[in-house]
Amino acid sequence: MTAATYDVVVIGGGIHGVGVAQAAAAAGYSVLLLEQKTLASGTSSRSSKLIHGGLRYLEGAQFGLVRESLREREILLRNAPELVRRVPFYIPVYSSTQRPPWMIRAGLSLYALFGGLSRDTRFESVPRARWENLDGLDTRNLLAVYRYEDAQTDDALLTQAVMRSAQTLSAELRCPANFLSAIRDETGYRVHYLDNSGEQTCHTGSLVNAAGPWANTVLDRITPRPPILTVDLVQGAHILVEGETRHGVYYVEAPSDGRAVFVMPWKGSTLIGTTETPYDGNDPGAVRARPEEISYLHETWQHYFPNAHGRLLDNFAGLRVLPQGSGSVFRRSRETVLHPDNTYRVRLVTVYGGKLTGYRATASKVMRLLRPSLPLHAAVADTAKLKLSL
Ligand SMILES: Cc1cc2nc3c(=O)[nH]c(=O)nc-3n(C[C@H](O)[C@H](O)[C@H](O)COP(=O)(O)OP(=O)(O)OC[C@H]3O[C@@H](n4cnc5c(N)ncnc54)[C@H](O)[C@@H]3O)c2cc1C
Repeated sequence: MTAATYDVVVIGGGIHGVGVAQAAAAAGYSVLLLEQKTLASGTSSRSSKLIHGGLRYLEGAQFGLVRESLREREILLRNAPELVRRVPFYIPVYSSTQRPPWMIRAGLSLYALFGGLSRDTRFESVPRARWENLDGLDTRNLLAVYRYEDAQTDDALLTQAVMRSAQTLSAELRCPANFLSAIRDETGYRVHYLDNSGEQTCHTGSLVNAAGPWANTVLDRITPRPPILTVDLVQGAHILVEGETRHGVYYVEAPSDGRAVFVMPWKGSTLIGTTETPYDGNDPGAVRARPEEISYLHETWQHYFPNAHGRLLDNFAGLRVLPQGSGSVFRRSRETVLHPDNTYRVRLVTVYGGKLTGYRATASKVMRLLRPSLPLHAAVADTAKLKLSL
């Protein structure tokens, strides 16, 4: 029996993998996606679930990332109204807050400018008379509260919806299917994977490694071994507590170290995150919130909402993939890094890092890199216009 043949095989069913599957199928290519466990079982179900530009990235002058993410936020709000919704964000400024009010106003002005200066991107200073309505936010030593809008999603459901969209354009999904190895030949790669029926083989013109924190494990299984980027895995934890934060997302500074922490409404409860702890485990699938991370998030919540006493319901952690570098992890770039196998006829692209919000833009860039090695095809759809639903 001859092995099945595809234009593109994608490894990993997180947001980046399904995004590439959708983009490749929309461009008219035959696509197979392999996911070892379930869709979004990795980082893509353990994020802060925000579809946002990333206000804090302005501090690091990551203007391109913020602008692109705000553009993608608008596309998602338009195409996926059941999955992505605008939410008010509140930034309280106390006498002890590290960032003074003028700095926050300057950041929000730039954010509104990058967001297109529409009615929805404007920010305001919340009048003192309304402070008592902010979910029990501590008003002692409070100088100002700023309100602006960003968006929230269900990351796992969004990932599943993008995969369904890819499948309606004829992309194939094997899940569970563990990528075992790939061997380069004249016209692409011979791929081996294991699914419920046993070991399978197929051939592909190009390969996309969207295995998130497993990306370098996947590269180790490819012959000849492709260039590898050394990365740090940095875990981010969240806790879920009883009682809903009803008015929106609160963007606060952790009292112990000044890092930004979100306190967010989440399906009738409150989600608080996140942390940044270097991950030293060997298995990305074994990442768990540590006791000290749980206390850090709990203390931050209690500091700003002193009358909230809800029980701790759950906790989870995910792994950021950051190109290795020196200095504070908090300040390191969150841009996606696309790592091709060579600079000429690219047949393999690895996706490192990135944001849930920017998955569609990232997938378009992956397709641009692969285009010289793919056959010519007429596009069948434009991902910027494809609707996503529950
Ligand atoms: C704590 C935290 C909070 C975040 N919050 C936000 C946020 O609010 N907004 C935002 O925009 N971004 C956020 N991000 C970033 C965003 O979540 C990630 O960039 C994104 O989810 C990464 O998706 P991915 O597809 O690259 O990886 P993953 O979701 O990890 O997917 C990789 C997949 O590959 C599969 N896989 C691995 N090996 C194999 C194999 N051999 N065979 C088959 N499949 C395999 C895994 O099972 C997994 O499903 C956050 C990240 C973290 C860590």
